[in-house]
Amino acid sequence: MKPHIHYIMTHANWFVGNGNQISFWSDRWLEHTILDHWNIPATLLPDVELEVKHFIVNGRWCLPSYIHQKDPELVARIQKITLPADDTPDTLHWTSSPDGTLTNKTAFSSLYGNSQKVPWSKLLWNAYIPPTRSFITWRFIYDKLPTDDNLRKRGCTVVSICCFCRKDAETSNHIFFACEVTSILWHWLSKGPFRLNKLHYPHNELYGSGKHSCSTTAELCYHTYNLGYMD
Ligand SMILES: [Zn+2]
Repeated sequence: MKPHIHYIMTHANWFVGNGNQISFWSDRWLEHTILDHWNIPATLLPDVELEVKHFIVNGRWCLPSYIHQKDPELVARIQKITLPADDTPDTLHWTSSPDGTLTNKTAFSSLYGNSQKVPWSKLLWNAYIPPTRSFITWRFIYDKLPTDDNLRKRGCTVVSICCFCRKDAETSNHIFFACEVTSILWHWLSKGPFRLNKLHYPHNELYGSGKHSCSTTAELCYHTYNLGYMD
């Protein structure tokens, strides 16, 4: 969260309560901070640390005369903000959310954009597959499994050899698609014992009644094999 604090603060707006938490000059409680509105650097303002509460007296706005003289329009906008009668705390509202709350989902989509919809998401993420297996398959799809080639990319020094065929380096592509040993297994899983359709495989055959018909590895391999060959 810390690296994004500036981003968060520029996408959040304060609702004025008692004014205790809001910096009068440098926080966003109007459309822009007053410093930005006047286009002056914070270092030039000696009382930049003043909070909004310092401009409220007996529940009413009390703005210094130099603000009135410099920017009567700003004064008018500030005075339109109704101050609460009681000691209501200030609240920070996320501008990208309809109700102003900042959730993990709104934070993620705001930082990285709405995630791309992929046709296989329901096949991979569903109630029949344990999330740990789905996650491993998801890592495979984005080539993030800790295979030897990926470990090398992270700076690990490894001598790579496929432990199944001992003929080629270990990569996701080799293990799941090119290896002459594992290809037999994937083919057997996909076409042999279960006779499953690639896209519409019957979950019950694999996972019915809570009894897994095949091993954890086989499940992963089966899904990976099918997902890898999907259009
Ligand atoms: Zn191999």
